[in-house]
Formats: sequence, structure tokens, C-alpha cells
Amino acid sequence: MEEELNSEGKCLFCNETFSQKEMGKHLATHLKKMEKEDSKKMPETFCHIVVEADVMFLHLLVKGNATMKKIDTFLRKVWLECCGHLSGFGHKDFKISMTHKVLDVFETKVKIYHDYDYGSTTRVFLKGVKNYQLKLKEDIVLLSRNEPLKLMCSKCGKQAAVNICTVCDWSFYCESCSIQHEKECGDFSDYANMPVVNSPRMGVCGYEGGQIDTERDGIYQKK
Ligand SMILES: [Zn+2]
Ligand SMILES: [Zn+2]
Ligand SMILES: [Zn+2]
Ligand SMILES: [Zn+2]
Repeated sequence: MEEELNSEGKCLFCNETFSQKEMGKHLATHLKKMEKEDSKKMPETFCHIVVEADVMFLHLLVKGNATMKKIDTFLRKVWLECCGHLSGFGHKDFKISMTHKVLDVFETKVKIYHDYDYGSTTRVFLKGVKNYQLKLKEDIVLLSRNEPLKLMCSKCGKQAAVNICTVCDWSFYCESCSIQHEKECGDFSDYANMPVVNSPRMGVCGYEGGQIDTERDGIYQKK
């Protein structure tokens, strides 16, 4: 991706748009308020975790005594799963297993990584933002996610890209330029045509999109 891409997302609570940089601070204002309101309802620890892959991001709220497997499953569903590859969390100084409690891993402001597929690996980074005492039914909540990035057709530059040709140096094509490219590139009509999706696994292995939050998994829409 040559061009500098702007990344922004919507806040789950107020539906307002914030940049990747501002989002964490903004969410904290809601979470602090919720913590106050929940203080007398026997709250439990929830961890605010930000997951990043360059300009793509997820803000998650995860129950502290859930296991790391919960986050792994969520990441697979929203960003990663193509054909059941192996995955794992890691940190340069300590081991993290799927049975570790989320709270024990994200206690300090630690930054870890998650690898999906040890062949064509997709690595994303997770950082503990802050822990809160809250009363929530869900074990995991998607607080925010980057909106589809402004990926334009590399041929015409006018339309949003819908496909990638993975053999022609990751070139992006709109609908009509895809038809044109099929005539020029034998591999494109065969196996090299992959859909543009809102995920760091875009164009890798057989990845064609997520299973949850699919409305934000599409292509860039002009405003
Ligand atoms: Zn908000
Ligand atoms: Zn695969
Ligand atoms: Zn085009
Ligand atoms: Zn091609």
C-alpha cells in the first residue's frame, strides 16, 4: 500500500467517528462512566485490549477470567480464518498458552502478538489498554473497528478496488478493470483473484472475509 491510508472507526456507544490514534482515549471516557454506574452491581474485571495490524484495528473489551482461546476464536472469526490453520499468542520474554486467563496476560500494559498460520503467517499485535470493573453479559465486546480503508483501483484510480491480483504485485482492481485484467492475466481468472476485505489476511491463502461484523468487512464506500 503506497499511499498513506487514513484509518478511522466508529465508537460502539455513541456511533461517532474517531481516528485510529484517538479511539482508545475516546472509549476510555465511556468505560470510566460505565465503571461508576456498575460499581454496586458486583462487577467483574474486563480488559480493554487494542489489536492492531498496521492501519487496521480492533478495540475489544474482554472478561478478565475468560481464557486466551476466547480472543483467538474472536480474531479468527473477524479477521483470519481461511482453512483452519494453527495459531498462537507470543511475547519475547514469556510463554502464553490458550488456557491462560486474559487478566493474567494483560495485567500490565504488555504488548503481545498473535500468529495465525505458521506457513503464510498473519501477525497482529495486542496491547492491554486498561482494566475496568464492569457488569456485562458478554465475555467479549467489539468496541470499535476500522472502517474499510480507502483502497482504490490501481488501474483507473477512480473506483474503489474490489479485487486483488496476488500474482501481479498485489495490484488492486475495480469491477470493470477486473474484467480487463482477466484478459491480460491468465492467473487472475484462474486462482490469483482475491476479494478486497477489511482484514490483515486479505489476499493470503484462501481468505475471503470474516464471519462476524460482516457489514464492515466490505470495500471502501465513497462518502
Ligand atoms: Zn463514543
Ligand atoms: Zn488457509
Ligand atoms: Zn478501475
Ligand atoms: Zn494479474
